[in-house]
Amino acid sequence: HAAKTKELRGKPGSLKDGTHIPLLANVSDSTDTDTALEYGAEGVGLFRSEFLFIGNTEPPTVAEQTAAYAELLSRFPGKKVVIRMLDAGADKPMPFLTPEDEPNPALGLRGLRTLRVHKDIIEGQLKALAAADAQTDADLWVMAPMVADEHEASYFVKLGKSFGLKKVGVMAEVPSIAMVADKVAKVADFVSIGTNDLTQYTLAADRTLGSVANYQTVWHPAVLRAIAMIADAGNANGMPVGVCGEAAADPDLAVVLAGLGVNSLSMTPVALDDVRAELANWTLEEARQKASEALDGAFYKPAWGD
Ligand code: PEP
Ligand code: MG
Repeated sequence: HAAKTKELRGKPGSLKDGTHIPLLANVSDSTDTDTALEYGAEGVGLFRSEFLFIGNTEPPTVAEQTAAYAELLSRFPGKKVVIRMLDAGADKPMPFLTPEDEPNPALGLRGLRTLRVHKDIIEGQLKALAAADAQTDADLWVMAPMVADEHEASYFVKLGKSFGLKKVGVMAEVPSIAMVADKVAKVADFVSIGTNDLTQYTLAADRTLGSVANYQTVWHPAVLRAIAMIADAGNANGMPVGVCGEAAADPDLAVVLAGLGVNSLSMTPVALDDVRAELANWTLEEARQKASEALDGAFYKPAWGD
Protein backbone atom coordinates (compact mmCIF):
# COMPACT_ATOMS: atom_id res chain seq x y z
CA HIS A 1 0.00 0.00 0.00
CA ALA A 2 2.73 2.48 1.03
CA ALA A 3 4.74 1.71 -2.08
CA LYS A 4 1.66 2.15 -4.26
CA THR A 5 0.76 5.54 -2.79
CA LYS A 6 4.37 6.70 -3.07
CA GLU A 7 4.29 5.94 -6.80
CA LEU A 8 2.11 8.97 -7.47
CA ARG A 9 4.48 11.42 -5.77
CA GLY A 10 5.47 14.23 -8.06
CA LYS A 11 2.13 13.99 -9.86
CA PRO A 12 -0.48 16.69 -9.20
CA GLY A 13 -3.54 15.79 -7.14
CA SER A 14 -6.19 14.59 -9.55
CA LEU A 15 -9.50 12.80 -9.65
CA LYS A 16 -9.92 9.76 -11.91
CA ASP A 17 -11.41 11.93 -14.67
CA GLY A 18 -8.47 14.35 -14.59
CA THR A 19 -10.08 17.07 -12.46
CA HIS A 20 -7.11 18.83 -10.83
CA ILE A 21 -7.33 19.14 -7.06
CA PRO A 22 -4.04 20.78 -6.02
CA LEU A 23 -2.59 19.11 -2.92
CA LEU A 24 -0.76 21.57 -0.69
CA ALA A 25 1.03 21.31 2.62
CA ASN A 26 0.45 22.80 6.06
CA VAL A 27 3.81 23.96 7.43
CA SER A 28 5.16 25.83 10.43
CA ASP A 29 8.92 25.63 10.00
CA SER A 30 11.68 24.56 7.63
CA THR A 31 11.56 20.93 8.78
CA ASP A 32 7.92 20.79 7.68
CA THR A 33 8.92 22.44 4.40
CA ASP A 34 11.50 19.70 3.76
CA THR A 35 8.83 17.06 4.38
CA ALA A 36 6.35 18.89 2.15
CA LEU A 37 8.81 18.88 -0.75
CA GLU A 38 9.72 15.25 -0.14
CA TYR A 39 6.04 14.24 -0.31
CA GLY A 40 5.39 16.17 -3.51
CA ALA A 41 3.32 19.08 -2.20
CA GLU A 42 2.22 21.37 -5.03
CA GLY A 43 2.78 24.35 -2.77
CA VAL A 44 1.88 25.50 0.72
CA GLY A 45 -1.77 25.91 1.66
CA LEU A 46 -1.20 27.03 5.24
CA PHE A 47 1.93 28.52 6.74
CA ARG A 48 1.18 29.00 10.42
CA SER A 49 3.11 32.19 11.19
CA GLU A 50 2.60 31.69 14.93
CA PHE A 51 5.89 29.79 14.93
CA LEU A 52 7.74 33.10 14.51
CA PHE A 53 6.01 34.63 17.50
CA ILE A 54 5.47 31.78 19.96
CA GLY A 55 7.90 31.37 22.84
CA ASN A 56 9.21 34.93 22.52
CA THR A 57 8.60 37.76 24.93
CA GLU A 58 8.21 40.27 22.10
CA PRO A 59 7.19 40.12 18.46
CA PRO A 60 9.84 39.46 15.78
CA THR A 61 11.06 42.55 13.92
CA VAL A 62 9.97 43.30 10.36
CA ALA A 63 13.46 42.35 9.16
CA GLU A 64 13.35 39.01 11.00
CA GLN A 65 9.94 38.25 9.57
CA THR A 66 10.95 39.26 6.05
CA ALA A 67 13.88 36.84 6.20
CA ALA A 68 11.67 34.00 7.44
CA TYR A 69 8.95 34.54 4.80
CA ALA A 70 11.53 34.96 2.02
CA GLU A 71 13.22 31.72 3.08
CA LEU A 72 9.89 29.88 2.86
CA LEU A 73 8.90 31.46 -0.48
CA SER A 74 12.29 30.73 -2.02
CA ARG A 75 11.66 27.00 -1.57
CA PHE A 76 8.58 27.17 -3.84
CA PRO A 77 9.48 29.13 -6.98
CA GLY A 78 6.42 29.60 -9.19
CA LYS A 79 4.25 27.72 -6.68
CA LYS A 80 1.36 28.83 -4.53
CA VAL A 81 2.26 29.64 -0.93
CA VAL A 82 -0.53 30.69 1.44
CA ILE A 83 0.72 32.48 4.52
CA ARG A 84 -1.63 32.96 7.40
CA MET A 85 -1.44 36.09 9.50
CA LEU A 86 -0.70 35.57 13.19
CA ASP A 87 -3.46 33.55 14.83
CA ALA A 88 -2.95 34.59 18.46
CA GLY A 89 -5.43 33.66 21.18
CA ALA A 90 -7.55 30.67 22.18
CA ASP A 91 -5.43 27.53 21.70
CA LYS A 92 -2.46 29.73 20.61
CA PRO A 93 -2.08 32.35 23.36
CA MET A 94 0.72 34.91 22.95
CA PRO A 95 1.91 36.46 26.21
CA PHE A 96 2.31 39.96 24.78
CA LEU A 97 -1.03 39.98 22.92
CA THR A 98 -3.60 37.67 24.48
CA PRO A 99 -5.58 38.84 27.53
CA GLU A 100 -5.13 36.46 30.46
CA ASP A 101 -8.53 36.94 32.02
CA GLU A 102 -10.88 35.79 29.26
CA PRO A 103 -13.40 33.23 30.58
CA ASN A 104 -13.84 31.68 27.10
CA PRO A 105 -10.65 32.33 25.10
CA ALA A 106 -11.96 30.52 21.99
CA LEU A 107 -14.77 33.08 21.92
CA GLY A 108 -12.49 35.96 22.78
CA LEU A 109 -9.81 38.09 21.24
CA ARG A 110 -8.12 35.85 18.72
CA GLY A 111 -6.97 35.81 15.11
CA LEU A 112 -7.93 38.91 13.16
CA ARG A 113 -9.60 40.33 16.28
CA THR A 114 -6.25 40.44 18.04
CA LEU A 115 -4.55 41.92 14.99
CA ARG A 116 -7.11 44.72 14.77
CA VAL A 117 -6.30 45.93 18.26
CA HIS A 118 -2.56 45.60 17.65
CA LYS A 119 -2.05 47.69 14.53
CA ASP A 120 1.73 47.50 14.89
CA ILE A 121 1.62 43.71 14.59
CA ILE A 122 -0.70 43.53 11.56
CA GLU A 123 1.15 46.30 9.74
CA GLY A 124 4.58 44.89 10.55
CA GLN A 125 3.55 41.48 9.29
CA LEU A 126 2.03 42.82 6.06
CA LYS A 127 5.11 44.94 5.44
CA ALA A 128 7.38 41.92 5.89
CA LEU A 129 5.20 39.78 3.61
CA ALA A 130 5.25 42.39 0.83
CA ALA A 131 9.03 42.74 1.15
CA ALA A 132 9.56 38.97 1.04
CA ASP A 133 7.22 38.73 -1.96
CA ALA A 134 9.29 41.32 -3.82
CA GLN A 135 12.49 39.32 -3.20
CA THR A 136 11.18 35.94 -4.38
CA ASP A 137 9.06 34.46 -7.14
CA ALA A 138 6.61 32.17 -5.42
CA ASP A 139 2.91 32.89 -5.88
CA LEU A 140 2.13 34.45 -2.49
CA TRP A 141 -1.41 34.37 -1.09
CA VAL A 142 -2.03 35.95 2.33
CA MET A 143 -5.01 35.21 4.59
CA ALA A 144 -6.38 36.23 7.96
CA PRO A 145 -7.69 33.74 10.55
CA MET A 146 -10.96 33.99 12.51
CA VAL A 147 -12.81 36.27 10.11
CA ALA A 148 -16.52 36.54 10.95
CA ASP A 149 -18.16 38.23 7.95
CA GLU A 150 -17.76 40.26 4.78
CA HIS A 151 -17.03 43.47 6.71
CA GLU A 152 -13.99 41.94 8.36
CA ALA A 153 -12.99 40.30 5.08
CA SER A 154 -13.20 43.64 3.29
CA TYR A 155 -11.16 45.37 6.00
CA PHE A 156 -8.38 42.83 5.69
CA VAL A 157 -8.37 42.61 1.90
CA LYS A 158 -8.14 46.39 1.54
CA LEU A 159 -5.40 46.62 4.12
CA GLY A 160 -3.39 43.81 2.52
CA LYS A 161 -3.68 45.37 -0.91
CA SER A 162 -2.60 48.75 0.44
CA PHE A 163 0.69 47.07 1.34
CA GLY A 164 1.04 45.78 -2.24
CA LEU A 165 -0.06 42.18 -1.70
CA LYS A 166 -1.76 40.68 -4.74
CA LYS A 167 -3.88 37.82 -3.40
CA VAL A 168 -5.59 38.48 -0.11
CA GLY A 169 -8.17 36.19 1.41
CA VAL A 170 -9.71 34.90 4.59
CA MET A 171 -10.11 31.72 6.55
CA ALA A 172 -13.58 30.34 7.12
CA GLU A 173 -13.55 29.13 10.71
CA VAL A 174 -16.56 30.88 12.23
CA PRO A 175 -20.03 29.62 11.20
CA SER A 176 -21.19 33.20 10.53
CA ILE A 177 -18.85 33.46 7.55
CA ALA A 178 -20.45 30.41 5.94
CA MET A 179 -23.88 31.99 6.30
CA VAL A 180 -22.77 35.13 4.46
CA ALA A 181 -20.36 33.37 2.09
CA ASP A 182 -22.03 34.96 -0.97
CA LYS A 183 -21.12 38.40 0.40
CA VAL A 184 -17.60 37.32 1.30
CA ALA A 185 -17.07 35.95 -2.22
CA LYS A 186 -17.58 39.48 -3.56
CA VAL A 187 -14.72 40.95 -1.52
CA ALA A 188 -12.13 38.24 -0.88
CA ASP A 189 -9.69 36.83 -3.45
CA PHE A 190 -10.00 33.39 -1.87
CA VAL A 191 -11.30 31.49 1.15
CA SER A 192 -9.55 28.71 3.01
CA ILE A 193 -11.75 26.66 5.30
CA GLY A 194 -10.22 25.85 8.66
CA THR A 195 -12.25 22.78 9.52
CA ASN A 196 -10.74 22.40 13.00
CA ASP A 197 -12.19 25.67 14.23
CA LEU A 198 -15.25 25.54 11.97
CA THR A 199 -16.18 22.23 13.64
CA GLN A 200 -15.47 23.55 17.14
CA TYR A 201 -17.69 26.58 16.59
CA THR A 202 -20.47 24.89 14.62
CA LEU A 203 -20.94 22.26 17.32
CA ALA A 204 -20.02 24.56 20.25
CA ALA A 205 -17.48 22.04 21.54
CA ASP A 206 -14.03 23.20 22.66
CA ARG A 207 -11.48 21.53 20.36
CA THR A 208 -8.97 21.29 23.22
CA LEU A 209 -11.33 19.56 25.64
CA GLY A 210 -11.14 15.76 25.82
CA SER A 211 -14.60 15.44 27.40
CA VAL A 212 -16.26 16.76 24.20
CA ALA A 213 -13.78 15.33 21.68
CA ASN A 214 -16.55 13.18 20.19
CA TYR A 215 -18.08 16.36 18.72
CA GLN A 216 -14.93 17.25 16.81
CA THR A 217 -15.85 15.56 13.54
CA VAL A 218 -16.25 17.08 10.12
CA TRP A 219 -18.58 14.21 9.19
CA HIS A 220 -21.35 16.01 11.06
CA PRO A 221 -23.77 17.11 8.33
CA ALA A 222 -23.99 20.59 9.88
CA VAL A 223 -20.27 21.08 9.31
CA LEU A 224 -20.49 19.65 5.80
CA ARG A 225 -23.38 21.99 5.01
CA ALA A 226 -21.33 24.96 6.16
CA ILE A 227 -18.50 23.81 3.88
CA ALA A 228 -20.96 23.35 1.00
CA MET A 229 -22.31 26.88 1.47
CA ILE A 230 -18.80 28.31 1.19
CA ALA A 231 -17.81 26.13 -1.78
CA ASP A 232 -21.05 26.99 -3.61
CA ALA A 233 -20.56 30.71 -3.05
CA GLY A 234 -16.95 30.45 -4.21
CA ASN A 235 -17.79 28.48 -7.34
CA ALA A 236 -20.68 30.81 -8.23
CA ASN A 237 -18.37 33.82 -8.01
CA GLY A 238 -15.13 32.40 -9.41
CA MET A 239 -13.46 32.59 -5.99
CA PRO A 240 -11.12 29.70 -5.07
CA VAL A 241 -12.08 27.76 -1.95
CA GLY A 242 -9.58 25.48 -0.24
CA VAL A 243 -9.60 23.44 2.94
CA CYS A 244 -6.61 23.58 5.28
CA GLY A 245 -7.99 21.90 8.41
CA GLU A 246 -7.28 18.32 9.50
CA ALA A 247 -10.23 17.08 7.43
CA ALA A 248 -8.18 17.47 4.25
CA ALA A 249 -5.71 14.88 5.57
CA ASP A 250 -8.37 12.16 5.79
CA PRO A 251 -8.56 10.40 2.39
CA ASP A 252 -12.29 9.62 2.71
CA LEU A 253 -13.12 13.18 3.71
CA ALA A 254 -10.86 14.53 0.96
CA VAL A 255 -13.10 12.80 -1.60
CA VAL A 256 -16.20 14.32 0.02
CA LEU A 257 -14.60 17.79 0.08
CA ALA A 258 -13.77 17.52 -3.63
CA GLY A 259 -17.36 16.42 -4.23
CA LEU A 260 -18.65 19.45 -2.32
CA GLY A 261 -16.78 21.69 -4.75
CA VAL A 262 -13.66 22.50 -2.75
CA ASN A 263 -10.86 23.42 -5.21
CA SER A 264 -7.69 22.57 -3.25
CA LEU A 265 -6.68 20.65 -0.15
CA SER A 266 -3.88 21.47 2.27
CA MET A 267 -2.70 19.02 4.88
CA THR A 268 0.07 17.79 7.09
CA PRO A 269 2.77 16.74 4.57
CA VAL A 270 2.88 13.05 5.50
CA ALA A 271 -0.81 12.70 4.56
CA LEU A 272 -0.20 13.74 0.93
CA ASP A 273 0.52 10.26 -0.45
CA ASP A 274 -2.66 8.64 0.85
CA VAL A 275 -4.93 11.54 -0.12
CA ARG A 276 -3.42 11.69 -3.63
CA ALA A 277 -3.91 7.93 -4.06
CA GLU A 278 -7.53 7.97 -2.85
CA LEU A 279 -8.61 10.93 -5.00
CA ALA A 280 -7.34 9.06 -8.07
CA ASN A 281 -9.99 6.37 -7.45
CA TRP A 282 -12.98 8.73 -7.87
CA THR A 283 -14.47 10.71 -10.73
CA LEU A 284 -15.92 14.12 -9.90
CA GLU A 285 -19.40 12.70 -10.46
CA GLU A 286 -18.73 9.85 -8.00
CA ALA A 287 -17.25 12.26 -5.47
CA ARG A 288 -20.35 14.45 -5.78
CA GLN A 289 -22.55 11.44 -5.15
CA LYS A 290 -20.57 10.52 -2.05
CA ALA A 291 -20.73 14.16 -0.89
CA SER A 292 -24.48 14.20 -1.21
CA GLU A 293 -24.73 11.02 0.88
CA ALA A 294 -22.41 12.60 3.45
CA LEU A 295 -24.55 15.76 3.56
CA ASP A 296 -27.49 13.49 4.30
CA GLY A 297 -25.66 12.03 7.32
CA ALA A 298 -24.79 8.63 5.83
CA PHE A 299 -21.27 8.57 7.32
CA TYR A 300 -21.88 10.42 10.57
CA LYS A 301 -21.72 8.60 13.88
CA PRO A 302 -23.66 10.67 16.46
CA ALA A 303 -21.48 12.03 19.26
CA TRP A 304 -23.28 10.01 21.93
CA GLY A 305 -24.32 7.10 19.73
CA ASP A 306 -27.84 6.48 18.46
C1 PEP B 1 -8.29 25.23 11.47
O1 PEP B 1 -8.84 25.84 12.38
O2 PEP B 1 -8.82 24.28 10.85
C2 PEP B 1 -6.93 25.59 11.03
C3 PEP B 1 -6.40 25.11 9.92
O3 PEP B 1 -6.22 26.41 11.83
P1 PEP B 1 -5.62 25.98 13.26
O4 PEP B 1 -5.78 24.50 13.41
O5 PEP B 1 -4.21 26.45 13.25
O6 PEP B 1 -6.49 26.77 14.21
MG1 MG C 1 -8.02 27.67 13.14
